Amino acid sequence: MKIYNTLTRKKEEFVPIIPGEVRMYVCGPTVYNLFHIGNGRTFIVFDAFRRYLEYRGYKVKFVQNFTDIDDKMIKKANEENTTVKELGDRYINEYYKDADALNIERATVNPRATEFIGEIVEFVKDLIDKGYAYEVDGDVYFSTKKFYGYGKLSGQDLEELQAGARISVDERKNDPMDFAVWKNQKPGEPAWESPWGMGRPGWHIECSCMAHKLLGETIDIHAGGEDLAFPHHENEIAQSEARTGKPFANYWMHSAFINVNNQKMSKSLNNFFTAREVLEKYDADVIRFFMLSGHYRTQLNFSVELLDSAKAAVERIYNAIGNLENLLEEVKTDSMSEEEKAYAASLSSYRDKYIEKMDDDFNTADGISVIFDLVRDINTNITVNSSKELVKLALELIREFGKPLGILQKSTKGNLEEEIEALIAQRQQARKDKNWALADKIRDDLKNRGIILEDTPQGVRWKKA
Ligand code: AMP
Ligand code: ZN
Repeated sequence: MKIYNTLTRKKEEFVPIIPGEVRMYVCGPTVYNLFHIGNGRTFIVFDAFRRYLEYRGYKVKFVQNFTDIDDKMIKKANEENTTVKELGDRYINEYYKDADALNIERATVNPRATEFIGEIVEFVKDLIDKGYAYEVDGDVYFSTKKFYGYGKLSGQDLEELQAGARISVDERKNDPMDFAVWKNQKPGEPAWESPWGMGRPGWHIECSCMAHKLLGETIDIHAGGEDLAFPHHENEIAQSEARTGKPFANYWMHSAFINVNNQKMSKSLNNFFTAREVLEKYDADVIRFFMLSGHYRTQLNFSVELLDSAKAAVERIYNAIGNLENLLEEVKTDSMSEEEKAYAASLSSYRDKYIEKMDDDFNTADGISVIFDLVRDINTNITVNSSKELVKLALELIREFGKPLGILQKSTKGNLEEEIEALIAQRQQARKDKNWALADKIRDDLKNRGIILEDTPQGVRWKKA
């Protein structure tokens, strides 16, 4: 399979370090608020790629960190009159709620920066010993000039960067492009002991350190949103490779933004929707479909129209799933005829098409088109005269292609049951409230859908008419 590597600006054949295994690190959220749907795109995209790698038979070790100490954390904790620790605990909890609701699989490990302070201190010490970092009054800076290759990821030349540095010049740094790997404690800030006094890690160092500790010195894939390529990932490369003398990651992947009116969705522009808000109106399948129906390296505009059309598209596929589920109960023959076997083979050939598209730098947009081609074929050719074996095969194929995308796994049957149970509960409440009109209406509506309610001593039962 091929992956577009930001480092080489080319699609390259994917060759993992250990055959059959993938070690992957994705930069995760700073846990000081609920994540927005823009962040959600990055999490969903790389969750889908991890699932696809697993579908292709790789064992994936997937690490996504929580940044739980930085300026934003400290500011928010102060505003809320709480500790950085409590704030982090709270929003990590909230992160899991939303990520689970979006059907994002739990990472193999979700390390927190503050759990790795000892290792980070060792890392910084090593950089100083090797001559790549220097201390000034309790702060430690990485010397970008010392690292040959600084700028290689973002394709920038250090001299140009220095010339154009809009960064406020800090007199204490040897060079405007140098960045902090350790920060001296300011009054009221949380801090940890270090050889340079009380302080805390800079942002970039946590990812270098946790990736080394949890995945090794050279990893297969390092990923994040496109805004992270510079300076965050550039700085991660500099620190990591300065320390080990080895390549940090073989493939660098960056996913494009979600925009609102052509501007990046972001907290600071106040043009964001939290994942939680969007989940109130749209199902996880719809949100994921919306994210994955475009190419991950193409920016995506956030709009209600696009979400609504994603909703209609997902419904079309679920209608096909529903038909097949109904057919399973209705068909008369069990095993496939010879003719059906030939057709089943032609259906299975969609798998080759799906894999061909997805193997090409995770082209989920084209992968989804293959799902639609498959569904169209099934809708025209599978009927009540088909065998159970063929209906099952068709159903399993749709689900198989949906699984790496984290969609199409629900049963329309299950949904029906839940829906009916909810309506029955609503009717019981109406009766308690002596709202007979509503209670009767619910019963009649269900009857029109072919569902008969029976009041028994054990409670309300329902059956299909
Ligand atoms: P943050 O919590 O801001 O560090 O962001 C967490 C992740 O979301 C990072 O990988 C960012 O690159 C990514 N991200 C932030 N804003 C957007 C956006 N509008 N669209 C897509 N990804 C984003
Ligand atoms: Zn990172």
